[in-house]
Amino acid sequence: MKSLVVSLHDVSPLTQSPCENILAQLEELGVQQTSLLVIPNHHRRAPITENSSFRSWLARKVEAGHEPVLHGYFHQRQRQKTDSWLSRLTTETYTAGEGEFFDLSTEEASSRLQRGLKDLGFLPRSVLGFVAPAWLLSAAAEIAVRELGFWYTTRLSRLQIFRSSGDVRSRSLVWSTRAEWRAWTSLAWNRFLAITTARTRLIRIGIHPSDLGHAAVWRQIRQLVAAARLGRECVSYEKFVEILSQGSPYRY
Ligand SMILES: [Zn+2]
Repeated sequence: MKSLVVSLHDVSPLTQSPCENILAQLEELGVQQTSLLVIPNHHRRAPITENSSFRSWLARKVEAGHEPVLHGYFHQRQRQKTDSWLSRLTTETYTAGEGEFFDLSTEEASSRLQRGLKDLGFLPRSVLGFVAPAWLLSAAAEIAVRELGFWYTTRLSRLQIFRSSGDVRSRSLVWSTRAEWRAWTSLAWNRFLAITTARTRLIRIGIHPSDLGHAAVWRQIRQLVAAARLGRECVSYEKFVEILSQGSPYRY
């Protein structure tokens, strides 16, 4: 059966309120399982280790079937004095400075990943997925992700499974509401993408908390989720990886 994975990005104490609203609306649309991309210390000012009500809320969501995914540590990338114009274009213009793992060394990435896993250690289950902020993961940082035993990561245009040889090509639908022109470009692009991905094995829909605040974007997300659900199993990334492994001699 074909699959739909809905992921909710940037889940943290700073975004808990819109995240709750989004998950409630997704449930109304029949989406009961998502991948929740959690930031352990969003912008260095929202450590989940110091917020017990957020931890309880997240634990309840995980117990209800949502998948916890590690999504960077701070999410934000510290600007470097030595940044090239291409680095600046990628990390400042494309992501507004949010590409934390864009150029981390293996050692630094490993330290942040381990810290993140420790912070998520209160959850009733282990964390198997890592998604870099803005999908920007350096080759050196990817080594750390593999070494720590994560099952998979995702990129904008593919799901990268470490414990098997194959990647699954699938471009994620995702919106930008940072400026009005970006939002309207997103609407046109995602309408096109929804048509071109309609028959593929995997449809990925990536939602950000800020999408809820843009009426036209949120309306389109609801429409596309409802349409994509028809005839598809709605699962988390982890579950999708498990489904792929079924029948294979390699058990995840
Ligand atoms: Zn993010």
